[in-house]
Amino acid sequence: MTATIRTVAAHRAAADLFRTLTGSAPAGVWSAPGRANLIGEHTDYNDGFVLPFAIQHRTFAAARLREDGRIRVASTFSPEPVEVTLAELDALFPSAGAPAVAEWAAYPLGVAWALRALLPDGSGSSLAGVDLAIASDVPVGAGLSSSAAIEGAAGSALNELWELGLDPVALAQVGRRAENDAVGAPTGIMDQMASMLGVANAALFLDCRTLETRSVPLGFAEAGLEVLVIDTGVKHAHTTGGYRERRASCERGAAALGVPALRDVTVADLPRAAELLDDVDFRRVRHVVTEDQRVLDTVSVLAAEGPRAIGPLLVASHASMRDDFEISIPELDVAVDTALAQGAIGARMTGGGFGGAAIALVDHALVGPVSDAVRTAFADRGFADPHLFTVVPSDGPRRDA
Ligand code: ADP
Ligand code: MG
Repeated sequence: MTATIRTVAAHRAAADLFRTLTGSAPAGVWSAPGRANLIGEHTDYNDGFVLPFAIQHRTFAAARLREDGRIRVASTFSPEPVEVTLAELDALFPSAGAPAVAEWAAYPLGVAWALRALLPDGSGSSLAGVDLAIASDVPVGAGLSSSAAIEGAAGSALNELWELGLDPVALAQVGRRAENDAVGAPTGIMDQMASMLGVANAALFLDCRTLETRSVPLGFAEAGLEVLVIDTGVKHAHTTGGYRERRASCERGAAALGVPALRDVTVADLPRAAELLDDVDFRRVRHVVTEDQRVLDTVSVLAAEGPRAIGPLLVASHASMRDDFEISIPELDVAVDTALAQGAIGARMTGGGFGGAAIALVDHALVGPVSDAVRTAFADRGFADPHLFTVVPSDGPRRDA
């Protein structure tokens, strides 16, 4: 996978920031990718199925051990590094409510805390301190999981420097723990798994209950297709109300149906769900249940008919999020409708919703015309200029230097 100029710049920025921070070179630079979700939205915390892929945008962590027991993190996001002792991590996390450190710092520090928590009692105190400098070209808050990318980069660096020998699935779980318990964002495991297990030209089919995975060849390039991201620039926040409300609806639905999670509900059970639930909770449940089925259908259609045949599933996924789960916004609907009107094979919002990005599967030759049409449609409605770029299914974490 050839790195883009921006990715190379982010790599260099992490190493430069490290030198500014410490006056010396890092021991290594580790990176992990963001991800786009092809299909399977809000199914992860319902123990269901998702089909994301890692993208070429990456977050880099330049790092080196220190002699003392202090951990210092810096990011190009902030002029202020944050430094604590490793022992202090246990007082900072888990944080009830907003973390006591700058929010961005809770991601790498939360990863360090979650890694220490895996060690047998007492052995955490023998770990050396570490300096960590972070830079990224993953768009933030766009539904492309800059959060999983920073967790994956920090986790990969600490795993190797501390010689923990954790596998990618364990590191994904560490990232989720950091995000849930250190940052306080109640997200599922999809993003971290997608980032940690990414394979070029393939999506990751993930069963979020068992954490079983399968690499699903996408064949976009061979079919002359591109994935166009339409980032609306509208920031979402997982820690705010809408996301928690959706989760609560799903939990009520599962409880009413007498199952551990909505994963255990099938499309055939929906009439019974309609009788047991109020209209809002029912529609939330219907989204999750039909979305699980659409993920399974996408995997089989990809294998049987190839990527050009998955368009209707993407379109149905968007309609379900717009009408049943009610997490779309006008910008995302206009992005999807305009892309489809210009000949996209399929399009849907991706990520948690309430902002962020849509993806459109388009013929290579249509990337320009679709992009122009979306820009015009946004301008006509007085929306802010969207940020448009293509993403390529890419490999997971690596040590880059
Ligand atoms: P998304 O994952 O969709 O981009 P999130 O709200 O889940 O959005 O995560 C974004 C947050 O992750 C940022 O607000 C910031 O706190 C943290 N973050 C992401 N990338 C970096 C980075 N390079 N440096 C510091 N913090 C980062
Ligand atoms: Mg995120």
